[in-house]
This record gives sequence, C-alpha cells and structure tokens, in this order.
Amino acid sequence: MFFASDNGSGAAPEIIAAVVAANAGYAMPYGNDPIMEGVRAEIRRIFEAPEAAVYLVATGTAANALALAILCAPWGAVFCHPLAHVENDECGAPEFYTGGAKLVPVAGDHGRMTPAALAAAIARTGRGGVHGVQPGAVSITNVTETGSVYSAAEVAELATVAKGCGLPVHLDGARLANALVATGASPAAMTWQAGVDVVSFGGTKNGCLGVEAVVIFDPARAWEFELRRKRAGHLFSKHRYLSAQMAAYLKDGLWLDLAARANRAGARLAAGIRALPGAVIDHPAEANVIFARWPRAGHLRARAAGAQYYLMPPDGAPEGPPDELLAARLVTSWSTSEQDVGRFLELIGG
Ligand SMILES: *Cc1c(COP(=O)(O)O)cnc(C)c1O
Repeated sequence: MFFASDNGSGAAPEIIAAVVAANAGYAMPYGNDPIMEGVRAEIRRIFEAPEAAVYLVATGTAANALALAILCAPWGAVFCHPLAHVENDECGAPEFYTGGAKLVPVAGDHGRMTPAALAAAIARTGRGGVHGVQPGAVSITNVTETGSVYSAAEVAELATVAKGCGLPVHLDGARLANALVATGASPAAMTWQAGVDVVSFGGTKNGCLGVEAVVIFDPARAWEFELRRKRAGHLFSKHRYLSAQMAAYLKDGLWLDLAARANRAGARLAAGIRALPGAVIDHPAEANVIFARWPRAGHLRARAAGAQYYLMPPDGAPEGPPDELLAARLVTSWSTSEQDVGRFLELIGG
C-alpha cells in the first residue's frame, strides 16, 4: 500500500528490457545514438510537430529549469501557481538556471491559475520601469500539484493571456500522460495548439527509470537549450540509456497505458474515499493524485498495517481524538494494484 508518490514505483518491465537491450554493443554518445533518432521522430509524430526539437534529461527539475532558462531573461518574472513544483520543490533551480528570474505566484483554486489572476499579475509586473523585474514567461503544470487537470481549452485560455502580453509559455508535464488520459486531449491540442512553446514531458513518474523529454516547438530556441544543458552538466555521455527508456515508453502507446492504469487506480481510490462516512475529498481528483481527509482512527489503522503516504502537512499530528479529520495526499501509479487499493480502503474505513 504505497501511496507516497508515483516515483516510489519501480520501472515498467518494458523499460527495463529496453535498457538491457540497449546495453549490447557500442553507440555514439551524447544523444547521437540511433535510438535517439527514433525518439525524436516519434515525439514529433505524437505531438504532430515535425519541426520540434527534442532533448532528454534525467530529472524533471532539470527539464523545467532549463526550459525556463531559454524562455525567460535573468530580469524576468515567471508566472506560476503558488503550489507549482518550480516554485516549491526545485530548490531554486529555475532561478539558478535562468540566472535569477523571479517566480511570481498567480492564484487560483485547486492548483489551477485563473486567466484573470494571470492577467492581473502580468499587468502589475514591470510597471516601475527599470526598478522591477519584467514579465518573462508563464509556467503551467498539468496534472496540477493538487491532482486537478487543466483541459486543453483552459491551457489555451492562459496561453492567450500570455501571448497577448508577448510572453512564452512552458508546460510542466511531469504527469502529462495522466492529464492526456484524463481529458482525452491529444498531445498537440494540450500543447502547441493551445499556445505552449516548450513542454517538460515526464517519463520517470509514469514507469521509466529516470528520463524526461524537453520538447521545444520553435527550433530557433534549440541551440541555446543544447548549450545550457551541457553547461548545466545534464548532457548524458552514455545517452543511449536515456534514449532507450523513452523509446520503449512511447512504443505502442505504453506511456498512455501506464497512465491509464494509474488514473484508474486513482479513480477507484477516490470513489472509495468519497463513499466513506465522514471522509472528504479536498480537490477534484481527476488523475492519479488525491487530497483527502478522513478520521485519525483510519490513519492509525492504515499506518499500523504498513500503508505509506504523506499526511498534509507531513508532520501532521498522530495523537488526538480518533474522529478528528486528518488530511493526506495519496498518489497512485502504473503499478498500484486493485488489491492494495481495496485493502487500504477497508483499513481507513474501519
Ligand atoms: C515530480 C515532479 C517534477 C520533477 O521532479 P524531479 O524530482 O526533479 O524529477 C516536476 N514537476 C512536477 C509537477 C512534479 O510532480
């Protein structure tokens, strides 16, 4: 019963097999391997973007921070939700790699910025002339950090505000596959057709060992990305092992199958919690991330039986009245079993 995060899961067997297969013989380093050629072609096909530049890195933080660095000047502002991973969970990497850009929080319920709040934040920024940072870029996360999902139309609304002010748009898609499965949108509709310029396309949380693609729809931005990736120490020498993971991830729609499994487990878990007397779901649980509250007694039973997940806040009080509601975050993955979900629901429901 592991619901702490989707990166607690192993890698899918297809991914491991591809890495093992890629180990045979020799291959040119630094992304010049033949497998990477196939990855580039496949990502261009999947995103319906024949001109797109495609690069691989091993962490989502590198993908996001390097993507923002090619979009935003050191004196720029990156507009994002206050709960965004770039704002809370990257130890200043976006600020570091951009050379000092300032992250500006934009409000909205359930992890989603509203177009009005975005427009207002952009309008407030840079008014003082040389004394303040200037509007730089917009970063949108989908699936959001609270487990809700933006529709392609909602991404387009935000991008329209950004574009109206001349700002480029980054999409943090650490869980993009889950968002696409949840909405039924095509990769193109959710990204460049909606006005997104650069995507961090996640693999790690959805069954890879450690690989994320950065997809840059305007090839004029590609060379700068290459230089920044190398300078940051994120150009892998034995790159074929990144290529092999991504190739297997994309092959025959594996990436969407894995996300569909995670989302189905998430939906079962959310439905089960909703049906418990006294339990509350705190945000729309639209993919594989669920924020919910239920009585302390249920937490204690689940914990005693070995269930792993984060209380919110993570140091949430273990002691107190048994019927007090405590908040938790639960994340399902491609490998979450029906049995584990069932057993967990029995435990928390008493
Ligand atoms: C996990 C995650 C990332 C990437 O994190 P790394 O630990 O750097 O791989 C980026 N954005 C979001 C929304 C995430 O959940």
